[in-house]
Amino acid sequence: MIDAEQRAKQLAQQNPGAGELLRFAAGLLKAQAFLRPADLAGVATAARPLLEYCARSGPPELAAEARAALAGGFDARLRAYWDAGEFDYLARAALQPYARMLRETGQSPGRGVSGTCVFCGSGAWISSRRIPPGPGTGEGAMRMLHCALCAFVWQVGRIRCPACGEEDPEKLPFFTAPPHAGVRIEACESCKTYVKSIDLSLDARRVPEIDDLVSLSMDLWATEHGYVRMEPGLAGL
Ligand SMILES: [Zn+2]
Ligand SMILES: [Zn+2]
Repeated sequence: MIDAEQRAKQLAQQNPGAGELLRFAAGLLKAQAFLRPADLAGVATAARPLLEYCARSGPPELAAEARAALAGGFDARLRAYWDAGEFDYLARAALQPYARMLRETGQSPGRGVSGTCVFCGSGAWISSRRIPPGPGTGEGAMRMLHCALCAFVWQVGRIRCPACGEEDPEKLPFFTAPPHAGVRIEACESCKTYVKSIDLSLDARRVPEIDDLVSLSMDLWATEHGYVRMEPGLAGL
């Protein structure tokens, strides 16, 4: 599988409009790769280079937030995000490597959050569709959800809202936009939540959370039409 950082650089060349954001994402992934805290208490200190990167290279609003976090109080923000799960871009970015490490080593995250991910309780920030392995299943694409925090990927029912459980196909519309092949907004009329889904069978180089950044116009469209994304992606939307 192609490395997420490489994919971000590749897409930045192909999509000048999203280039700035993709290059920022590539740098963020690189900063995260060096972040290896052994415990929750160590995350704030370990995350300083990541915050410095965001302060230096992030979009203006995020850069200002990163400067504030560097000035102090970041540990409390990390704890708040870990315990309550309210969206906090920097806290999530700082905690992702730690949450992944816990999952990969089979340690319980011990969070007080019950969301979508069975491991850590976080929301899914992207969905993907892929062809099932093995011969002749003929059942069509598998629908996967990708956890925003611990990177767990799991299969879900194709006709079911992952937020509220709605199963009436009439209430689960999906929307596409011509320039973005294989990308769709999978919405729910009952709870007004949506997830963006990326078809991996069209192009094996796709990395869902990175490819997400090329079709932000679809998120703006969904927001204008009253839908709320289950969990913001790398763009913070
Ligand atoms: Zn998770
Ligand atoms: Zn729903």
